[in-house]
Amino acid sequence: MPAAQTNFAHHWMPFTNNRLFRETPQMFARAEGVHYVTPEGDTILDGSSGLFCTPAGHGRREIADAVHAQLMTLDYTPHFQRGAPISFTLAERLAEILPEGLDRVFFASSGSEAVDSAMKICLTYHRARGEGQRSRFVSRNWGYHGVNLGGTSLAGMVNNRREFSGVTCDVVHMRHTWTEEQRYTCGQPETGAELADDLEEICRTFGADTIAGVFVEPIAGSIGTIVPPKGYLERLRAIADKYGLLLIFDEVITGFGRTGSAFAGQEFSVTPDVMTMAKALTNGAVPMSAVATTAKIQDAIFAAAGEADRPELFHGYTYSAHPVACAAALATLDVYRDEKLFDRARDLSPRFLDLIFGLRNLPQVVDLRGYGMMAGIQLAPADKPGLKGSLVQRALFDAGLHVKATGDALIVAPAFVATDGELEQMTDILRRVLGRAE
Ligand code: PLP
Repeated sequence: MPAAQTNFAHHWMPFTNNRLFRETPQMFARAEGVHYVTPEGDTILDGSSGLFCTPAGHGRREIADAVHAQLMTLDYTPHFQRGAPISFTLAERLAEILPEGLDRVFFASSGSEAVDSAMKICLTYHRARGEGQRSRFVSRNWGYHGVNLGGTSLAGMVNNRREFSGVTCDVVHMRHTWTEEQRYTCGQPETGAELADDLEEICRTFGADTIAGVFVEPIAGSIGTIVPPKGYLERLRAIADKYGLLLIFDEVITGFGRTGSAFAGQEFSVTPDVMTMAKALTNGAVPMSAVATTAKIQDAIFAAAGEADRPELFHGYTYSAHPVACAAALATLDVYRDEKLFDRARDLSPRFLDLIFGLRNLPQVVDLRGYGMMAGIQLAPADKPGLKGSLVQRALFDAGLHVKATGDALIVAPAFVATDGELEQMTDILRRVLGRAE
């Protein structure tokens, strides 16, 4: 149906200027490979894998077939005191690629649910060990951890917190890791590891024994790809160990090959105690997320339940481990394995980052960052900071490219199946639009 015939009155769109959208809608009707097609039939290159969801490209027949077959076999099963073999199979398959030791998997449906589930697992673990006073979390400025109340509390982006301050939980924020010296750094910056010492300072100020854990995105994605300085994640790990805090990596964006390794924790050789994942778990086809943790954490929680006939964790969702999502995830993992897509991301990365860093001297570009198959383009702010990204995002759509925008930044994260020519086309469009003096 063409956009002109759509009734826009009823769907209240998320994270959208709905008033503007109704006037000038930018819509997709179909997708295949790294292309979207608008209702009017125009082709738009997908420069952000949707929202970092589709590394294997759109319209994967293998995933569609698996979803269809599962719907016709077992469309739904509750997972409260009931189960289906497929979720156990998926958890086992994930354990094969997860960071070492993180082989206990709890399922949910969105990244936000995974984050709040991870927080509850951390709190339950400390209580199980007799340290229930560890109820506070540490996170980082500029962090994004979804939009549920736990994730909103962890958030370090003002617009995501401002309206909701009355209901957030107790979180202390470290400084973000971007510094002026890092401008135009490709890969991990050499400087800034000492910013991890904020965690130690917070432990001293608030009392380490009041803190349950520290949550970070290994690469801060939603703010515009902020890559951790060399040594920073290692230092967080050491401080967390010193004070008995759990280290949680939110890998909702970085998971499933985005850095070239299956997970960023492996790429940076730092293993967290708890990890979240979503998005690319099903190649975006069906909502699904997961929390992975260690046997040590699970065993402590199970042991505290003792012989009592009760759940060990009072938490879960109607759609936890939905069988159709499990089928989509299993088919997705097959595609990643059979097409060696994580290796392909690693191989493609130097060329991709080269193309992105070729945008350096454009009038609207003030910083570039990147790692693996994700990059951030920082734009010169418009009259008021924070508005440029969406202005440019709209112009890029009109020029034939979809990318995610946040504040004054664009985030480019193409599918790993993109060809060299498609990556070039994406950067050509970026060059044309960002080359306009505004
Ligand atoms: N955590 C991180 C690091 C994310 O980037 C996101 C979404 O972009 C989320 C959590 C929330 O995921 P969802 O939008 O699926 O709830």
